[in-house]
This record gives sequence, C-alpha cells and structure tokens, in this order.
Amino acid sequence: MNIERDNIFREDHQLLRETARRFFEQECMPKQAQWDEEGKSDRETWLRAGAAGLLCASVPEEYGGGGGDFGHVAVIVEEFSRSGISGPGFGVHSDVVAPYIVRLGTEQQKRAWLPDACAGRKIFAMAMTEPGAGSDLQSIRARATLDGDDYVISGSKTFITNGLNADLILVVCKTDLAAGAKGISLFVVESDRAGFRRGRKLHKVGQPAADTAELFFDEVRVPAENMLGEENQGFTYMMQELAQERLVIALGAAVKLETLLEQTLEYLKQRPAFGKTIWDFQNTRFKIADIKAQALATRTLVDHYLRAHLQRKLTREEGAVAKLFSTESMWKGIDDMVQLHGGYGYMLEYPIARAFVDWRAARIYGGANEVMRDLIARKL
Ligand SMILES: Cc1cc2nc3c(=O)[nH]c(=O)nc-3n(C[C@H](O)[C@H](O)[C@H](O)COP(=O)(O)OP(=O)(O)OC[C@H]3O[C@@H](n4cnc5c(N)ncnc54)[C@H](O)[C@@H]3O)c2cc1C
Repeated sequence: MNIERDNIFREDHQLLRETARRFFEQECMPKQAQWDEEGKSDRETWLRAGAAGLLCASVPEEYGGGGGDFGHVAVIVEEFSRSGISGPGFGVHSDVVAPYIVRLGTEQQKRAWLPDACAGRKIFAMAMTEPGAGSDLQSIRARATLDGDDYVISGSKTFITNGLNADLILVVCKTDLAAGAKGISLFVVESDRAGFRRGRKLHKVGQPAADTAELFFDEVRVPAENMLGEENQGFTYMMQELAQERLVIALGAAVKLETLLEQTLEYLKQRPAFGKTIWDFQNTRFKIADIKAQALATRTLVDHYLRAHLQRKLTREEGAVAKLFSTESMWKGIDDMVQLHGGYGYMLEYPIARAFVDWRAARIYGGANEVMRDLIARKL
C-alpha cells in the first residue's frame, strides 16, 4: 500500500511496532488453536504482553504503563489486527477501560487498579450492554443503590469481552432510575465480590477464543470509592471516550483490509484454472483493483482522523465516520475476496475465511453502524 506514514509515526512508535509484531507472531499465533479450543486466552500470555510493554501503552509510567501517546496505542492495535490472532481482548483492556481510569480515577483508584492491569496481572472488561439494552444505552436497567458507605449493584450484562478472564469490570449502572442518560454512573467491580457471577461463554459465529460472556450482579456490594468519576455523569463520560474507541476499531479494520488484500493477491497469482491463474481473469483483476482503491481510501481517511486524534481534535462524529466507513469498506472487501478464493475462502485455515467470521461483528460492536449513521446525520 505504501502510503507515507512517516509524518504520523516517530522512531519510538516504529520500535514498539516491531516489538508488537514479533510478540503477536511468535508468542500468540502458535497458541491460537489452543485458545480456540479452550474458548479463551491464557493468563500467561497477558503477563508476557505486560512484560513486553504491550498493555496500557498510553497509561502514565508512574502507574506502570508505557507512558506513550495514541501513536503507541495505534501501532499495537495495527499489529494485532495484521497478525490475524483473536482471543485476548487487549484492546478493551488497554484502550477502552484503562483510559477511563486514567482520566476519571482518583489517585487512590489509579494506584489500586492500574499497575496490575499494566503488568497483565489483572484483566479489565467493560460492561455496558444488557440483554434488554444495547444500542439504547440510556435504557439499561442495572442499578446501583447507595446503602451507607456502599453501593449495592444488581443487574445483568451480556456480550462482555474478556468476560471470563476479567478481574476488574467497569460496570455501567443507573444511580437515578428516573433520569435516563443523566442517571448513569460508572463503577469498577472486582470479580471476587460476593454476588458476582459469570454466565456461560457465548458461542459466537467467529472469534472462538474471545471470552465473550454474560455477567450477573446479585446485590454486589462495593464501597462508594469504587465509583469512577461523579455520580450521574457516566453517560457523558462514555460519549467522550467513544470517539477514541471507534477510531481504534477503524485502525484495526484498515490494516485488516490491507493485509487480506496482500494475502489474497498472493493466493490468486498461484491458483491455476483454465490453463492460467485466477489472477489472469479480467473479473479478478477488476475486483482486486476496486478493493485496492477501497483500501487506499480507507487508509487515507483513517490516517486523517488518527492525525486529528493525536492533536486531540477528533470529534464524536468523526469517530463515527471512521468506524462506519472503515468497517463497511473492510466488510465489502472481505466478502469479495472470499468469493475470489472459491471453496478455500470458506475453509477456516485460510486467513480470508477466518476474517470473514472474526470481523463481521465489527459492523455491530462499538455501536452498530446504523447508530453511527444516525450520529453523523444528526449533525447535518
Ligand atoms: C463480539 C462482540 C463483542 C462485544 N463486546 C462488548 C463489550 O466488551 N462490552 C459491552 O458492553 N458490549 C459489548 N458488545 C455489545 C455491542 O456493543 C452491542 O451488540 C451493540 O452495541 C448493539 O447492541 P444490541 O446487540 O443490543 O443490538 P440492538 O440495540 O438490539 O440493535 C439491533 C440492530 O438494530 C439497529 N439499530 C439499533 N439502533 C438503531 C438506530 N438508532 N437507528 C437505526 N437502526 C438501529 C442496528 O442495525 C442494530 O444492529 C459486544 C458485541 C459483540 C458482537
């Protein structure tokens, strides 16, 4: 693809990129089959990722993090996506939950939760979605009620990434049932609290090693100090963080499309049919030319927003545009490349088939793409 990216990434970013690439290829890829079978990643890998500086790259060093900027986050996200591994929810851990604690946590909260997370000793999960409320977050029903010095949390969450492995869960609750979005607060709940229970591991179409699970909270008592930020401000906090979360998805999607295009080209140029190769058919060349154009457009758009975010200028709508465009573009490319592979495109040992099942969800999670369109349209 070779779009000039030197004006985005510095040498320290590129060094971290090499570390990440080596780690995902050498320490994770060989474990993929085992993780798929067990339905989750192993904790040893989390510890190793922590030791390699690949967790919580943007958390300040004084709390055990990498002390980096969003460029460091981006290179890790890109290399994770390029490698094709799936399972450990490093993104949710490092790039979704940790930033909330850095931004909203008190000194005591940061010292209590971040060093273990940066080292991979404790794993984070983000619990927003409920069986009855996904896109419509204002309608969640999990509630936290003040009782003396504690809050008592009751409710259930579903589709939670890292759900089986998580030690510290950022739980979105209602603290004022009558106030809609203005009655939402955030709590960190330790998984060893009485009344907390993990449900079954959910059987997804793809990503078999990602431990997506249901979580149940039955009168779980947490001290008031476990509330993150101010009471009833949770929805505002989430809206502020969502732009970055969506850019992270977009970064992964852009690289995925580029990588699959390279792998598909290699396959097509050696696959024989009718005395030539599949690549030689005009239909193939035209389809691939379209995908190349899509990949370039996606890269250009995503890098544009990456630059904006490095200058802290990314807006909610721009985060939505990045997520919408990149995941739709990637998905169209994947579907076309499955077709060009023929039956092999349906066999899971081929990266394109694996991407077909693993990445379909990107148009749904992080906010369904229809919600992205709604967000964008509201500003027009
Ligand atoms: C693999 C995976 C991992 C996930 N990880 C997490 C996690 O770690 N933590 C977490 O909290 N959640 C997680 N989720 C949940 C995810 O965020 C939700 O699935 C998503 O927000 C959609 O919510 P829903 O599934 O309840 O769909 P619904 O809200 O029921 O929506 C269904 C469909 O209706 C349409 N729709 C919804 N709203 C609108 C609208 N305003 N305008 C037009 N159309 C609309 C869309 O097509 C949407 O896909 C994960 C989901 C998946 C699949």
